[in-house]
Amino acid sequence: MQIKKLSIPNYEEVYQCIDKESELHAYIAVHSTRLGPSLGGVRMWNYESEEEALFDALRLSKAMTYKAASAGLKLGGGKAVILGNPNKPKTEKMLRAMGKFINSLEGRYLAAEDARITPDDIEIIRKETPYVTGTHEGSGDPSPLTAEGVFKGMQVCLETQLGQQDFSKISAAIQGVGHVGSFLVEHLVHVGAKVTVADVNENNIKAITEKFPVSVVAPEEIIHVKADIFSPCALGGVLTPHNIPNLPASIIAGASNNQLSDEEKCDFMLFKENKLFAPDFVLNGGGLINIYVIDILKQDNVHEWIEHIPQTLKEIFVRSQKENIPPGQAANELAEERLKNVT
Ligand code: NAD
Repeated sequence: MQIKKLSIPNYEEVYQCIDKESELHAYIAVHSTRLGPSLGGVRMWNYESEEEALFDALRLSKAMTYKAASAGLKLGGGKAVILGNPNKPKTEKMLRAMGKFINSLEGRYLAAEDARITPDDIEIIRKETPYVTGTHEGSGDPSPLTAEGVFKGMQVCLETQLGQQDFSKISAAIQGVGHVGSFLVEHLVHVGAKVTVADVNENNIKAITEKFPVSVVAPEEIIHVKADIFSPCALGGVLTPHNIPNLPASIIAGASNNQLSDEEKCDFMLFKENKLFAPDFVLNGGGLINIYVIDILKQDNVHEWIEHIPQTLKEIFVRSQKENIPPGQAANELAEERLKNVT
Protein backbone atom coordinates (compact mmCIF):
# COMPACT_ATOMS: atom_id res chain seq x y z
CA MET A 1 0.00 0.00 0.00
CA GLN A 2 1.43 3.37 -1.01
CA ILE A 3 0.23 6.42 0.91
CA LYS A 4 1.43 9.75 -0.42
CA LYS A 5 0.98 13.05 1.40
CA LEU A 6 -0.07 15.93 -0.85
CA SER A 7 0.52 19.55 -0.02
CA ILE A 8 -2.66 21.56 -0.67
CA PRO A 9 -2.92 25.17 0.55
CA ASN A 10 -5.61 25.77 3.22
CA TYR A 11 -6.02 22.03 3.92
CA GLU A 12 -4.42 20.46 6.97
CA GLU A 13 -3.70 17.05 5.47
CA VAL A 14 -4.46 15.37 2.16
CA TYR A 15 -3.38 11.84 1.20
CA GLN A 16 -3.55 9.65 -1.84
CA CYS A 17 -3.58 5.86 -1.39
CA ILE A 18 -2.86 3.34 -4.11
CA ASP A 19 -2.97 -0.33 -3.18
CA LYS A 20 -2.25 -2.58 -6.14
CA GLU A 21 -3.19 -5.79 -4.35
CA SER A 22 -6.75 -4.77 -3.45
CA GLU A 23 -7.11 -2.30 -6.34
CA LEU A 24 -7.93 0.50 -3.91
CA HIS A 25 -7.38 3.97 -5.27
CA ALA A 26 -8.53 6.64 -2.83
CA TYR A 27 -8.03 10.07 -1.28
CA ILE A 28 -8.60 11.38 2.22
CA ALA A 29 -8.83 15.16 2.69
CA VAL A 30 -8.75 16.71 6.13
CA HIS A 31 -9.78 20.32 5.73
CA SER A 32 -9.74 21.32 9.38
CA THR A 33 -9.44 19.83 12.85
CA ARG A 34 -9.66 23.22 14.60
CA LEU A 35 -12.88 22.30 16.35
CA GLY A 36 -12.22 18.55 16.70
CA PRO A 37 -11.44 15.42 14.68
CA SER A 38 -12.51 15.73 11.07
CA LEU A 39 -15.59 13.73 10.14
CA GLY A 40 -17.12 13.00 6.76
CA GLY A 41 -18.43 10.22 4.58
CA VAL A 42 -16.51 7.77 2.43
CA ARG A 43 -17.85 8.28 -1.08
CA MET A 44 -17.29 5.86 -3.93
CA TRP A 45 -17.80 7.31 -7.40
CA ASN A 46 -16.85 6.60 -11.00
CA TYR A 47 -14.62 9.64 -11.27
CA GLU A 48 -13.36 10.41 -14.72
CA SER A 49 -9.95 11.53 -13.53
CA GLU A 50 -7.61 11.82 -10.56
CA GLU A 51 -8.20 15.58 -10.54
CA GLU A 52 -11.97 15.16 -10.34
CA ALA A 53 -11.70 12.78 -7.38
CA LEU A 54 -9.27 15.00 -5.52
CA PHE A 55 -11.38 18.09 -6.22
CA ASP A 56 -14.47 16.32 -4.83
CA ALA A 57 -12.61 15.30 -1.65
CA LEU A 58 -11.36 18.85 -1.14
CA ARG A 59 -14.72 20.51 -1.81
CA LEU A 60 -16.69 18.11 0.37
CA SER A 61 -14.23 18.15 3.30
CA LYS A 62 -14.40 21.95 3.44
CA ALA A 63 -18.22 21.80 3.36
CA MET A 64 -18.09 19.39 6.34
CA THR A 65 -16.01 21.88 8.32
CA TYR A 66 -18.67 24.55 7.76
CA LYS A 67 -21.55 22.16 8.51
CA ALA A 68 -20.03 21.03 11.82
CA ALA A 69 -19.14 24.59 12.85
CA SER A 70 -22.62 25.90 12.14
CA ALA A 71 -24.19 23.01 14.05
CA GLY A 72 -22.06 23.95 17.07
CA LEU A 73 -20.21 20.61 17.12
CA LYS A 74 -16.66 19.97 18.26
CA LEU A 75 -15.85 18.36 14.94
CA GLY A 76 -13.79 19.29 11.94
CA GLY A 77 -14.30 18.56 8.26
CA GLY A 78 -12.93 15.62 6.31
CA LYS A 79 -13.92 13.43 3.41
CA ALA A 80 -12.72 10.26 1.72
CA VAL A 81 -13.32 9.33 -1.89
CA ILE A 82 -12.69 6.01 -3.63
CA LEU A 83 -12.25 5.95 -7.39
CA GLY A 84 -14.80 3.27 -8.30
CA ASN A 85 -14.76 1.10 -11.37
CA PRO A 86 -18.27 0.62 -12.82
CA ASN A 87 -17.27 -2.81 -14.16
CA LYS A 88 -15.99 -4.15 -10.86
CA PRO A 89 -17.98 -4.61 -7.64
CA LYS A 90 -16.62 -3.54 -4.25
CA THR A 91 -14.57 -6.28 -2.64
CA GLU A 92 -13.92 -7.01 1.02
CA LYS A 93 -10.20 -6.74 0.29
CA MET A 94 -10.61 -3.23 -1.09
CA LEU A 95 -12.82 -2.04 1.77
CA ARG A 96 -10.38 -3.46 4.32
CA ALA A 97 -7.54 -1.66 2.56
CA MET A 98 -9.63 1.52 2.89
CA GLY A 99 -9.92 0.74 6.61
CA LYS A 100 -6.12 0.55 6.86
CA PHE A 101 -5.79 3.84 4.99
CA ILE A 102 -8.25 5.51 7.41
CA ASN A 103 -6.43 3.96 10.36
CA SER A 104 -3.14 5.50 9.23
CA LEU A 105 -4.53 8.94 10.14
CA GLU A 106 -4.85 7.78 13.77
CA GLY A 107 -8.28 9.34 14.36
CA ARG A 108 -7.73 12.75 12.80
CA TYR A 109 -10.28 11.58 10.20
CA LEU A 110 -13.47 9.75 11.25
CA ALA A 111 -15.31 7.94 8.47
CA ALA A 112 -19.05 7.60 7.85
CA GLU A 113 -21.22 6.21 5.05
CA ASP A 114 -21.89 8.20 1.89
CA ALA A 115 -22.80 7.60 -1.76
CA ARG A 116 -22.27 3.92 -2.72
CA ILE A 117 -20.90 3.05 0.73
CA THR A 118 -23.50 1.24 2.81
CA PRO A 119 -23.65 0.50 6.56
CA ASP A 120 -22.54 -3.06 5.68
CA ASP A 121 -19.44 -1.66 3.94
CA ILE A 122 -18.72 0.44 7.02
CA GLU A 123 -18.80 -2.77 9.11
CA ILE A 124 -16.08 -4.25 6.86
CA ILE A 125 -13.99 -1.08 7.08
CA ARG A 126 -14.37 -1.27 10.86
CA LYS A 127 -12.50 -4.59 10.90
CA GLU A 128 -9.34 -2.56 10.23
CA THR A 129 -9.97 0.66 12.13
CA PRO A 130 -11.96 1.97 15.09
CA TYR A 131 -12.19 5.39 13.43
CA VAL A 132 -15.61 4.90 11.87
CA THR A 133 -19.05 6.23 12.79
CA GLY A 134 -22.61 5.33 11.83
CA THR A 135 -22.13 1.58 12.32
CA HIS A 136 -25.02 -0.85 12.86
CA GLU A 137 -24.62 -0.69 16.63
CA GLY A 138 -24.30 3.09 16.65
CA SER A 139 -26.34 6.00 15.37
CA GLY A 140 -27.96 4.16 12.42
CA ASP A 141 -30.09 5.91 9.76
CA PRO A 142 -29.58 9.70 10.04
CA SER A 143 -32.60 10.58 7.84
CA PRO A 144 -35.28 11.03 10.57
CA LEU A 145 -33.00 13.47 12.42
CA THR A 146 -32.13 15.30 9.21
CA ALA A 147 -35.86 15.71 8.52
CA GLU A 148 -36.45 16.92 12.09
CA GLY A 149 -33.76 19.58 11.65
CA VAL A 150 -35.25 20.70 8.33
CA PHE A 151 -38.72 20.92 9.86
CA LYS A 152 -37.49 22.96 12.86
CA GLY A 153 -35.63 25.23 10.47
CA MET A 154 -38.83 25.71 8.46
CA GLN A 155 -40.52 27.05 11.61
CA VAL A 156 -37.86 29.79 11.80
CA CYS A 157 -38.35 30.49 8.08
CA LEU A 158 -42.11 30.97 8.53
CA GLU A 159 -41.60 33.34 11.42
CA THR A 160 -38.93 35.34 9.56
CA GLN A 161 -40.64 35.53 6.18
CA LEU A 162 -44.34 35.45 7.03
CA GLY A 163 -44.37 36.60 10.66
CA GLN A 164 -46.20 33.52 11.89
CA GLN A 165 -45.67 29.81 12.66
CA ASP A 166 -49.08 28.34 11.91
CA PHE A 167 -48.44 25.50 9.48
CA SER A 168 -52.16 24.89 8.97
CA LYS A 169 -52.16 28.04 6.79
CA ILE A 170 -49.05 26.94 4.89
CA SER A 171 -48.44 24.94 1.73
CA ALA A 172 -45.21 23.12 0.92
CA ALA A 173 -43.87 21.52 -2.26
CA ILE A 174 -41.45 18.68 -1.55
CA GLN A 175 -39.07 17.59 -4.31
CA GLY A 176 -38.12 13.98 -3.54
CA VAL A 177 -39.79 11.73 -0.99
CA GLY A 178 -36.93 9.34 -0.27
CA HIS A 179 -35.42 8.86 3.17
CA VAL A 180 -35.49 12.48 4.34
CA GLY A 181 -38.41 13.76 2.24
CA SER A 182 -40.83 11.12 3.51
CA PHE A 183 -40.08 11.92 7.17
CA LEU A 184 -40.43 15.61 6.39
CA VAL A 185 -43.88 15.01 4.85
CA GLU A 186 -44.90 13.28 8.07
CA HIS A 187 -43.90 16.33 10.17
CA LEU A 188 -45.70 18.74 7.84
CA VAL A 189 -48.92 16.74 7.56
CA HIS A 190 -48.95 16.32 11.34
CA VAL A 191 -49.14 20.11 11.82
CA GLY A 192 -51.78 20.54 9.13
CA ALA A 193 -49.72 21.89 6.22
CA LYS A 194 -50.98 21.38 2.68
CA VAL A 195 -48.33 19.20 1.03
CA THR A 196 -47.57 18.53 -2.64
CA VAL A 197 -44.86 16.04 -3.58
CA ALA A 198 -42.99 14.79 -6.62
CA ASP A 199 -40.54 11.95 -7.14
CA VAL A 200 -39.07 10.15 -10.13
CA ASN A 201 -39.50 6.86 -8.27
CA GLU A 202 -43.09 5.60 -8.58
CA ASN A 203 -42.70 3.28 -5.59
CA ASN A 204 -41.84 6.19 -3.32
CA ILE A 205 -44.90 8.11 -4.56
CA LYS A 206 -47.07 5.07 -3.93
CA ALA A 207 -45.68 4.65 -0.41
CA ILE A 208 -46.22 8.28 0.55
CA THR A 209 -49.74 8.60 -0.92
CA GLU A 210 -50.82 5.43 0.88
CA LYS A 211 -49.74 6.94 4.19
CA PHE A 212 -50.49 10.66 3.94
CA PRO A 213 -53.05 12.99 2.31
CA VAL A 214 -50.70 14.67 -0.16
CA SER A 215 -51.11 15.93 -3.73
CA VAL A 216 -48.77 14.65 -6.41
CA VAL A 217 -47.34 16.44 -9.44
CA ALA A 218 -44.83 15.42 -12.11
CA PRO A 219 -41.15 15.85 -11.15
CA GLU A 220 -40.65 18.74 -13.59
CA GLU A 221 -43.69 20.56 -12.14
CA ILE A 222 -42.79 20.62 -8.45
CA ILE A 223 -40.66 23.77 -8.62
CA HIS A 224 -43.61 25.60 -10.25
CA VAL A 225 -46.20 24.62 -7.63
CA LYS A 226 -47.80 27.68 -5.99
CA ALA A 227 -46.71 26.90 -2.45
CA ASP A 228 -45.24 28.96 0.39
CA ILE A 229 -42.27 26.62 0.78
CA PHE A 230 -40.21 24.86 -1.86
CA SER A 231 -38.22 22.04 -0.28
CA PRO A 232 -35.50 20.36 -2.36
CA CYS A 233 -34.95 16.87 -0.92
CA ALA A 234 -33.60 15.07 -3.97
CA LEU A 235 -30.76 16.67 -5.88
CA GLY A 236 -28.25 19.49 -5.77
CA GLY A 237 -28.16 22.45 -8.18
CA VAL A 238 -31.95 22.73 -8.52
CA LEU A 239 -32.09 26.52 -8.14
CA THR A 240 -30.56 28.33 -11.07
CA PRO A 241 -30.32 31.95 -12.28
CA HIS A 242 -32.82 30.84 -14.94
CA ASN A 243 -35.59 29.46 -12.69
CA ILE A 244 -35.25 31.73 -9.62
CA PRO A 245 -37.20 34.68 -11.17
CA ASN A 246 -40.22 32.39 -11.78
CA LEU A 247 -40.17 30.55 -8.46
CA PRO A 248 -43.61 30.89 -6.79
CA ALA A 249 -42.43 29.92 -3.29
CA SER A 250 -41.14 32.65 -0.98
CA ILE A 251 -39.22 30.19 1.24
CA ILE A 252 -36.64 27.64 0.11
CA ALA A 253 -35.90 25.11 2.83
CA GLY A 254 -34.82 21.56 2.10
CA ALA A 255 -32.36 18.79 2.85
CA SER A 256 -30.38 18.54 -0.39
CA ASN A 257 -26.75 19.56 -0.41
CA ASN A 258 -25.63 22.40 -2.70
CA GLN A 259 -29.11 23.45 -3.82
CA LEU A 260 -27.83 26.57 -5.62
CA SER A 261 -26.29 25.91 -9.04
CA ASP A 262 -24.14 29.04 -8.65
CA GLU A 263 -23.71 29.62 -4.93
CA GLU A 264 -22.94 33.34 -4.88
CA LYS A 265 -25.14 34.44 -7.75
CA CYS A 266 -28.24 32.46 -6.74
CA ASP A 267 -27.87 33.45 -3.06
CA PHE A 268 -27.83 37.10 -4.12
CA MET A 269 -30.71 36.71 -6.61
CA LEU A 270 -32.97 35.05 -4.05
CA PHE A 271 -32.15 37.78 -1.54
CA LYS A 272 -32.93 40.55 -4.02
CA GLU A 273 -36.24 38.86 -4.96
CA ASN A 274 -37.18 38.69 -1.26
CA LYS A 275 -37.21 34.88 -1.26
CA LEU A 276 -35.88 33.45 1.99
CA PHE A 277 -33.22 30.81 1.42
CA ALA A 278 -32.32 28.58 4.38
CA PRO A 279 -28.65 27.66 3.72
CA ASP A 280 -28.63 23.92 3.07
CA PHE A 281 -25.53 23.03 5.05
CA VAL A 282 -27.14 24.56 8.14
CA LEU A 283 -30.60 23.11 7.63
CA ASN A 284 -29.51 19.53 6.86
CA GLY A 285 -27.06 19.17 9.76
CA GLY A 286 -29.36 16.82 11.72
CA GLY A 287 -27.70 13.66 10.38
CA LEU A 288 -24.26 14.87 11.41
CA ILE A 289 -25.58 15.93 14.82
CA ASN A 290 -27.02 12.42 15.23
CA ILE A 291 -23.62 10.81 14.58
CA TYR A 292 -21.84 13.27 16.86
CA VAL A 293 -24.19 12.86 19.83
CA ILE A 294 -24.69 9.08 19.65
CA ASP A 295 -21.39 7.75 18.28
CA ILE A 296 -18.93 10.30 19.64
CA LEU A 297 -20.45 11.82 22.79
CA LYS A 298 -22.26 8.53 23.56
CA GLN A 299 -25.28 10.50 24.74
CA ASP A 300 -28.95 10.05 23.90
CA ASN A 301 -30.18 13.68 23.96
CA VAL A 302 -29.95 14.17 20.20
CA HIS A 303 -33.29 16.04 20.02
CA GLU A 304 -31.87 18.74 22.31
CA TRP A 305 -28.86 19.09 20.01
CA ILE A 306 -31.11 19.43 16.96
CA GLU A 307 -32.25 22.76 18.49
CA HIS A 308 -28.86 24.16 17.37
CA ILE A 309 -30.27 24.20 13.83
CA PRO A 310 -33.16 26.66 14.39
CA GLN A 311 -30.97 28.72 16.76
CA THR A 312 -28.19 29.08 14.19
CA LEU A 313 -30.68 29.76 11.42
CA LYS A 314 -32.20 32.60 13.45
CA GLU A 315 -28.73 34.09 13.95
CA ILE A 316 -28.09 33.85 10.21
CA PHE A 317 -31.35 35.56 9.24
CA VAL A 318 -30.80 38.35 11.79
CA ARG A 319 -27.28 38.92 10.45
CA SER A 320 -28.53 38.83 6.88
CA GLN A 321 -31.13 41.52 7.59
CA LYS A 322 -28.83 43.67 9.73
CA GLU A 323 -25.90 43.62 7.32
CA ASN A 324 -28.06 43.52 4.19
CA ILE A 325 -26.28 40.41 2.90
CA PRO A 326 -27.79 37.17 1.53
CA PRO A 327 -28.32 34.32 4.05
CA GLY A 328 -25.81 32.01 2.34
CA GLN A 329 -23.10 34.62 2.79
CA ALA A 330 -24.19 35.23 6.40
CA ALA A 331 -24.02 31.46 7.07
CA ASN A 332 -20.47 31.24 5.69
CA GLU A 333 -19.36 34.22 7.76
CA LEU A 334 -20.87 32.77 10.93
CA ALA A 335 -19.14 29.40 10.42
CA GLU A 336 -15.81 31.16 9.72
CA GLU A 337 -16.16 33.20 12.92
CA ARG A 338 -16.84 30.08 14.96
CA LEU A 339 -13.69 28.55 13.51
CA LYS A 340 -11.61 31.65 14.20
CA ASN A 341 -12.82 32.17 17.74
CA VAL A 342 -12.13 28.66 19.00
CA THR A 343 -10.00 28.70 22.14
P1 NAD B 1 -32.85 9.45 -1.09
O1 NAD B 1 -32.06 8.94 -2.24
O2 NAD B 1 -33.41 8.50 -0.09
O3 NAD B 1 -34.09 10.32 -1.62
C1 NAD B 1 -34.02 11.15 -2.74
C2 NAD B 1 -35.34 11.02 -3.47
O4 NAD B 1 -35.36 11.95 -4.55
C3 NAD B 1 -35.55 9.63 -4.10
O5 NAD B 1 -36.82 9.14 -3.76
C4 NAD B 1 -35.41 9.89 -5.60
O6 NAD B 1 -36.21 9.00 -6.37
C5 NAD B 1 -35.91 11.31 -5.68
N1 NAD B 1 -35.49 12.03 -6.88
C6 NAD B 1 -34.34 11.92 -7.59
N2 NAD B 1 -34.35 12.76 -8.63
C7 NAD B 1 -35.52 13.46 -8.56
C8 NAD B 1 -36.11 14.47 -9.35
N3 NAD B 1 -35.50 14.97 -10.42
N4 NAD B 1 -37.32 14.96 -8.97
C9 NAD B 1 -37.96 14.47 -7.90
N5 NAD B 1 -37.44 13.48 -7.12
C10 NAD B 1 -36.25 12.98 -7.46
O7 NAD B 1 -31.93 10.54 -0.37
P2 NAD B 1 -32.13 11.15 1.08
O8 NAD B 1 -31.29 10.42 2.04
O9 NAD B 1 -33.58 11.34 1.35
O10 NAD B 1 -31.44 12.58 0.88
C11 NAD B 1 -32.08 13.60 0.13
C12 NAD B 1 -31.09 14.73 -0.09
O11 NAD B 1 -30.66 15.26 1.17
C13 NAD B 1 -29.81 14.30 -0.79
O12 NAD B 1 -29.39 15.35 -1.62
C14 NAD B 1 -28.81 14.12 0.33
O13 NAD B 1 -27.49 14.35 -0.08
C15 NAD B 1 -29.24 15.18 1.31
N6 NAD B 1 -28.93 14.86 2.70
C16 NAD B 1 -29.39 13.73 3.27
C17 NAD B 1 -29.11 13.45 4.60
C18 NAD B 1 -29.64 12.21 5.27
O14 NAD B 1 -29.63 12.15 6.50
N7 NAD B 1 -30.11 11.23 4.53
C19 NAD B 1 -28.34 14.34 5.36
C20 NAD B 1 -27.87 15.51 4.75
C21 NAD B 1 -28.18 15.76 3.42
